[in-house]
Amino acid sequence: CGIVGYIGQQDCKEILLRGLEKLEYRGYDSAGIAVLNGNDIHVFKEKGRIAKLRESVDEFVSSTVGIGHTRWATHGIPSKINAHPHQSASGRFIIVHNGVIENYLHLQREYLKDVELRSDTDTEVIVQVIEHFVNQHVEVEEAFRQTLTLLKGSYAIALIDKQNPDVIYVAKNKSPLLVGLGQGGFNVVASDAMAMLQVTDQFVELMDKEMVIVTRDHVTIKKLNGEIVERAPYTAELDA
Ligand code: GLU
Repeated sequence: CGIVGYIGQQDCKEILLRGLEKLEYRGYDSAGIAVLNGNDIHVFKEKGRIAKLRESVDEFVSSTVGIGHTRWATHGIPSKINAHPHQSASGRFIIVHNGVIENYLHLQREYLKDVELRSDTDTEVIVQVIEHFVNQHVEVEEAFRQTLTLLKGSYAIALIDKQNPDVIYVAKNKSPLLVGLGQGGFNVVASDAMAMLQVTDQFVELMDKEMVIVTRDHVTIKKLNGEIVERAPYTAELDA
């Protein structure tokens, strides 16, 4: 299972698909990508091989920001519906997640009484809780942070917002995730540097319970208490 993300200047579909192919070795049962075109979201997902996902992706959709996922099902059978990315009820927020949210039933009871979930995954609860806070007029980054403080379990997360195609929100706890620094107005996210060596070899490690605001020009790492973290990148030297 694995995660990829890209925000930059180029069309990202191929970068995401190639990244997912590089993560195939980790094992998966389904895969998907979501890309934003202006304020339109396009989600493609399939049970089975990445080759099948690739066939389902509309080549005429062009996008400079997107996220991708290979799933190893833990909650909900492997199926197209349970494949990531998952969208919030309004369709505004789109998430990919690796790991297990141990208290997802509790969160559902506590915050999502009025929300009809579409999948059987623990993951969908995360994106619905974020939207729940935003519906209560909490600003998006703060809604993301508050939701993270409620999660028990493991996660690597990438989230995009249809209303703001200039940010990928990222977080990690006990599941691997790296941010890759691009040269020339782009940045990337990946579970393994190998997935993004195609575009950069500069990576920043993340620690557990950190969140990251990734834009085309900046990467801002924060602790869940809001404190900013400075961390230098390293050069990944893998033979891809
Ligand atoms: N627990 C999530 C699910 O079953 C994520 C699984 C994964 O790490 O791929 O959908």
